[in-house]
Amino acid sequence: MPDKRAKSHDKSLKKSVRGKPILSIRARLIVLALVAIAPLMFERVHGLETARIEHAARAHADVIELARRGAEAQEEVVSSVRALLQIVAHVYARMPFEERDCNEYLSSLASNVPWIVSMSIAGTNGQIRCSTEPRAIGLNITDHGHFLRALQKREFALSDYFINVTRRAPSMYAAFPAIGSDGAVSAIVLASVNLQWIGQLATSAAERPGSSVLLFDGGGTLVAASANVQNLIGQRFAGLPVVRDILAHDQGTVTGAGLDGVRRIFAYVRVPWTQARLAVGLDQRAVDNGIDHAISVAYLQLAAIGIFVLLVTWFGGEQLIVRPIRSLVRTVARFGRGDLNARASRQHWAAEFEPLAAAFDDMADRLAAREEELRIANQHLEELASLDGLTGLANRRGFDRELERVWQAARDRREPLALMMIDIDHFKLYNDRYGHVAGDTCLRAVGETLSLVTLEEAVLVARYGGEEFALLLPGLDLARAAALAEEARKSIEDLLITHAEAPCGLVSISIGVESLIPDKSGTASDLVEAADNALYAAKRNGRNTVVAHAAALFRLAS
Ligand code: GH3
Ligand code: MG
Ligand code: MG
Repeated sequence: MPDKRAKSHDKSLKKSVRGKPILSIRARLIVLALVAIAPLMFERVHGLETARIEHAARAHADVIELARRGAEAQEEVVSSVRALLQIVAHVYARMPFEERDCNEYLSSLASNVPWIVSMSIAGTNGQIRCSTEPRAIGLNITDHGHFLRALQKREFALSDYFINVTRRAPSMYAAFPAIGSDGAVSAIVLASVNLQWIGQLATSAAERPGSSVLLFDGGGTLVAASANVQNLIGQRFAGLPVVRDILAHDQGTVTGAGLDGVRRIFAYVRVPWTQARLAVGLDQRAVDNGIDHAISVAYLQLAAIGIFVLLVTWFGGEQLIVRPIRSLVRTVARFGRGDLNARASRQHWAAEFEPLAAAFDDMADRLAAREEELRIANQHLEELASLDGLTGLANRRGFDRELERVWQAARDRREPLALMMIDIDHFKLYNDRYGHVAGDTCLRAVGETLSLVTLEEAVLVARYGGEEFALLLPGLDLARAAALAEEARKSIEDLLITHAEAPCGLVSISIGVESLIPDKSGTASDLVEAADNALYAAKRNGRNTVVAHAAALFRLAS
C-alpha cells in the first residue's frame, strides 16, 4: 500500500514537470560534447578533404610528368636525327656521292644510331638515289608529305607516325633539304626512325598499376601503346570523347573511359614537330583507391571517436549527474511521503549538489519540527474535544472512546469490566430552587468527589450527560463495584449540599452498576444498557441508592 502511494506520488511529480518539452540533462551534455568536439571533427574532415584534393593533384602532376618525359625523349630522338640529317645534307650538298659510296656512307652512319632504321637520299624529283635499303633505290616519293615539305619549305620535316609493318613499332620519316652553295635544294636526305622509346616510357609508366601509354597520330589513329592495348594499334579513335579532347589541345589532362573502357586520368602532350599526341593514362580507381581507403579509415576513426564521446557523455552523465539527481529526488520523495528521517547529506555528493542536499535536510528538519508541533497541538485539541468544560472530566466522546479501549482490553485478558451510571436526584428541582450557577457548582462538586472516591479503581470518570456521570472500573467484579458505588453514594450524601426540594434535604445520587466479562458475542453498549437499566431501577427504587446487576433484574422483573 505505501508502495502504491509512493508510485502515485512519483507519477504526480513527473506529471507536474511534464508539458514543457525541454532537453534532458543528458541530452544537453551530449549537445555540449558535440559542440566541444565539432571543431576537431571539422578540422579533421577538412584535412582529409584537402589530402584527397592534394592526392588527386599529385596524381595529375605525376601523369603530366610522365607524358612530358615521353615527349622530351621523343624530342631528343628527333633532334639527334635532325642533327645527323643536317650533317649528311651539308656534306652531300657540297660533294654529292656516287651511289655506291653513298650507300655505304649512309649504312655506316645509320648503324651508329640505334633508332635510325634506314637512311636514303632522294633527288628533288622525288627519286631515291641511294639508300641503306637497296630495294628502295629508284622509288619515287614525291607524294610523301615530309619530302614535299622539306623540299618546299627548305627545312627539316617529319612525316606523321606510322606502324612499321616488319618491326611492329611506331615509326616516322624525317627529311632534311641539302642546299647547295647556289642556294638551291639539290637533294633531300631522308631517314626512317624507329621510336622504340615509346616502349621504354611504357615500361616506366607501367610500374604504376593500371597505367597505359598511348601515341595517337594527328588523325586519332593509335600508333603506339603499352602492352594492355597493343592489339588496338592501327585503329582510329577520333570519335572517342577522351581522344577528341586530347587531339583538340596541345597539352592538358582529361578524365574519361580509355580505349579499353577503363576510366583513366590522361595527361597528354603534343609531340614536337608533329600533330601526334602522347597520352599517359592512370587508372582512376587505382589512383583513388589508396586515398579513398585512407580517408575511409579516417572517417571510421572519426565516427568511432564520436560514438565514444557520446557513450562516455551518456554513461558519465548518468553516473555523475542523473544518478545523484535521481537519488536526491528519491530522498525528497521520501520526505513527501512523510519519512522525515530520510537525510540527503548522508550520501557523498559532488560539491555542486552539497548545498542542495543540505537545503533538503534543513527542509526535512523544519518539516519534522513542524509536524511534531502539529502532533502536539492535535493531541491537545483531541484532549480538549474529549473533556467536559464545566467539570474538567471526560465528556461523552471521551467516555465512548475509552469504553471501547477498556472493553477490548478486558475481552483480551478475560477480566471483568464494571460500569457505574450515576444520576443526581431531583436536579431539575435543585436548579429551579437555587439557580443554574449553583447547579453548575453542584455538578463540579459531585464530579470531584466521584473522582476522589474512585481514584484507584476508576480508569475514567466522565460526565455522561447533563447531571449524569459514568465510571469505568476494569477488573472489578459486580460485588466490588457495588461496594465502591455504595461508597460513592455515601460520599455525595456526606457533602451535605442542601437540597430543600429533595426528600432527604440533601443532594444525593442514584447509581446503577454492572460488571461482566466481555465475550465475542457482546458489545460495549450491552454494558452501558445494563448499567443504565440498573440506574433506572435505582431511581424506581426511591433514589439515593445503588442497584447492581442482579438487583436490577430483580427490580425490573417485579
Ligand atoms: P431525577 O431525580 O428523576 O433524575 O429528576 P431530575 O430533575 O434530576 O431529572 P431531569 O432529567 O428531569 O432533570 C435534569 C436537569 O438537569 C435538567 C437540567 O436543568 C439540569 N441540568 C442539565 N445540565 C445542566 C448543567 O450543565 N447545569 C445546570 N445547572 N443544570 C443542568
Ligand atoms: Mg438525569
Ligand atoms: Mg436526575
